[in-house]
This record gives sequence, structure tokens and C-alpha cells, in this order.
Amino acid sequence: MRIVCVGGGPAGMYFAILAKLRDPRHEVAVIERNPAGATHGWGVVFWDALLDDLYRNDPVSADEVRKASVLYEGQEVRLRDDATAHLGGYGFSVNRRSMLEVLTARARDLGIDVQFEREVTDLSELGDVDLLVASDGVDSPIRERYAEDFGTRVAVGRNKYIWLGTTKVFDAFTFAFEETAAGWIWFHAYPSASGNSTCIVECAPQTWFALGLDTLGGDEGVARLEQIFARPLSGHPLLNRAQGMGEAHWLSFREISNRRWYRGNIVLMGDAAHTTHFSIGSGTKLAIHDAIALREVLPSDAADLPPRLRSYDESRRVTLRATQDAAHKSMTWFENLDENIEDDPVQFAYALWKRRGNYPRWRYQLHLATQISALRRIRREVSSARRSLLAHKRGERGRVRAR
Ligand SMILES: Cc1cc2nc3c(=O)[nH]c(=O)nc-3n(C[C@H](O)[C@H](O)[C@H](O)COP(=O)(O)OP(=O)(O)OC[C@H]3O[C@@H](n4cnc5c(N)ncnc54)[C@H](O)[C@@H]3O)c2cc1C
Repeated sequence: MRIVCVGGGPAGMYFAILAKLRDPRHEVAVIERNPAGATHGWGVVFWDALLDDLYRNDPVSADEVRKASVLYEGQEVRLRDDATAHLGGYGFSVNRRSMLEVLTARARDLGIDVQFEREVTDLSELGDVDLLVASDGVDSPIRERYAEDFGTRVAVGRNKYIWLGTTKVFDAFTFAFEETAAGWIWFHAYPSASGNSTCIVECAPQTWFALGLDTLGGDEGVARLEQIFARPLSGHPLLNRAQGMGEAHWLSFREISNRRWYRGNIVLMGDAAHTTHFSIGSGTKLAIHDAIALREVLPSDAADLPPRLRSYDESRRVTLRATQDAAHKSMTWFENLDENIEDDPVQFAYALWKRRGNYPRWRYQLHLATQISALRRIRREVSSARRSLLAHKRGERGRVRAR
């Protein structure tokens, strides 16, 4: 089959790899409008479950993604920077750029035709294609062209956010909430590569306007944020240009859903098909899961495609529902921060942690225990042992860098 993925983000690039691995006779191309190595955004977080899937499906790229990743341990919730509460857990983070470089190299090794700096403006320019994967992101021009057939629904979140980097290296996943005369403003930060971290700043629209962030230019706006967050950033600068890209801009999150994920030989994948609020860090994982799901039903002959696309569509939309629900709850929780904020940082951190749903009572007891540094250390050791076991089970060859 001739397969073309429009969009070389994680969805398109990973699907291309899996399709080629499934049947090397497939002729596979990925077309990406940006130059190689240029991508929006900084790091993305993920957990063991994604690494398990990556290792199961392509150990070669999985090993490289794992090597490019950093580990964060625990979560910190800083309230007005004079009080910190702790949450447990750990996760991994990888710069989008590094991840895409790994996937691009792997794709090319497998003989996939990866074309950068080519923007697809008219599908007829692609010639005869058996399967066209619309992996062209949240603004997907392909989806928009056939929005009625796909039954696209776009809901725009209330808050404003901007995806920045910083030279401050955070050890833990860190939320910092600062109270200004104009209202609350906060960041979600985590290490994303040696020497820098990702820092997503978010606030309510009224705070954004009152702080003048709507009118301040890129560098001025960033300087204003550096002032506000001087303490949690320990005076480090914020970075508003991801590698090879222009300035980051303030955005409102767009929740995308589609009633149908295919139309003829066109299939939606990743953010083009669905988005989940960044506060639960799942979009990349879901994009990779879409790629795995489509690979699983991929026939060797184009004549067999229609029922397979239907089955991909139905199964993925159902599987996604729980994550979409959790993401929506999380987004709404941050949109109602004024109501959710509490003066006691330990209570507030627990409310933040359970924003996606309710948990059994013992979770709260564990949370209280996590505030005690000796118990936190023990919890971390237990996590570390569990992590090593999981890494061993999935066949990790190297060691994850601690930072
Ligand atoms: C602030 C923020 C933080 C996030 N943090 C996390 C996180 O921690 N963990 C996580 O799992 N996810 C996270 N995500 C979500 C994640 O970034 C996306 O879900 C993921 O990138 C989706 O992958 P994709 O391949 O579908 O789309 P993208 O990565 O957006 O790739 C789409 C590609 O298509 C290209 N393209 C578009 N149109 C054309 C065209 N006409 N011709 C050629 N190329 C085209 C674009 O240039 C782009 O490279 C975050 C998102 C945001 C906004």
C-alpha cells in the first residue's frame, strides 16, 4: 500500500514506523511543514505505561526515547512560594525535539520517505494514496476541510496559557501558584532535558488582561512573568522560543472531538482526532496509542481498508473516553481555581491531586505521610525499586538519567 502521513509529530512519525515494521512492502511517506529539528513546545511528560508500549512495539526507538528522557521524582505544590506541599510519584519527560529526532532517524533507517519543509495545501498534490493519515495536529487543515463529515466539535477553554522553557532545572514536577493584585497565576514545570525545564504558565482571562499580558510584546510579557515567578524560578529566565521556532504565544486550550475518525481513505490520528488538556500530560501518549491501534488493524491490501478504519475509529473513541473525561475535569478545576484555592498548602495539594476524581481514604493518609521528609524518602525508595523492576521487565538496556 502507499501510505502518506501528513504531519510529522509523534502520531504521524510513529505510525509510519509501525506501518513499515508491519510490512516492509508498504511505501510510506511522512510530510512535515517545519524544518527538521524545529518544533513547537518544550518537554512532554509520560509514565511507565507508555515506555512499556514503546518497548513492545519498537524496542529500537524505545531505547533511544528512553535515553533522551529525564526522570522527575515527586511533585511539589508551592503556594505563594512561602509554603510547599508534596505529592508522590515519578515520571519521565522528553523534549519534543529530541523525541522527534529519534523517531525521524528511525523512520529513515527503515526506508520511510520523510520530507521536511513541505506544507500540504492540496491533497491532490499527493497523487494516488491508499491510506492518508491526517496527523496534522490540533489545527488539522485536513480535518477542517471535511469538518462536517468528521463531525468535528471544538470547545475552547476559558484560561490562557503559554508553553515556555526555563533554565531552572526542577527536580520534581512543580506547580507554583502566585497571587497578584490581578488574581492568581501559576505554572506547571518539570525538567525536560539537561540544563532546562518546561514551564507552562496559566491564568484566568481576567487576570491575563489585568496584568497587561494581552498587550505586552513577547519579551516584555516574559519579563513580567519572570518578575511574578522570581522566587519559584530562583531568578532564572524563562525562554519563549523553542528550538527553531518563533516566539511562543498565549493560547486558549481547544478541546477537539470528532464523531467519526475516517472519511474514505483519510483517517484522523493524534491531536487532529482529539485533544486532552495539557494538565494531565496525555496527548503524546494518546497519539502513540492511536498509531499502535491503527497498525494493529492495518491490512496488507487497500481493498480491505474500510472495515479496518471503522474498527480503529470505534475502538479508539471508546477507549479514549475515560482520559477525555479526566482531562476535562482537570481543565475545569484549573478554570475554577478561585473556588478551589485553599490557604492550607497540604489540603490544597490534595485537592489539586484529586481534581480528576475521588480516591479512597487511604490516599489521603498517604498524602499526609508524604509531607514528612523521612516518610517521603521511604516512598521514593519504594518507587525507585518499582521503577527498576518495570524497566527490567520491559527490557531497558541503559539507565534513565536522573536529570
Ligand atoms: C502546553 C502543552 C503541554 C503538553 N504537555 C504534554 C505532556 O506533558 N505529555 C503529553 O503526552 N502530551 C502533552 N501535550 C500534548 C502533545 O503535545 C500533543 O498531544 C501531541 O503533540 C500530539 O501529537 P500529534 O502528532 O498528533 O500532533 P503534533 O505534535 O502537533 O504534530 C502535528 C504536525 O503536523 C504538522 N502539520 C500541520 N499541518 C501540516 C500540513 N498542512 N503539511 C505538513 N505538515 C503539517 C505540524 O507542523 C506538526 O509538526 C501538551 C500539549 C500542550 C499544548
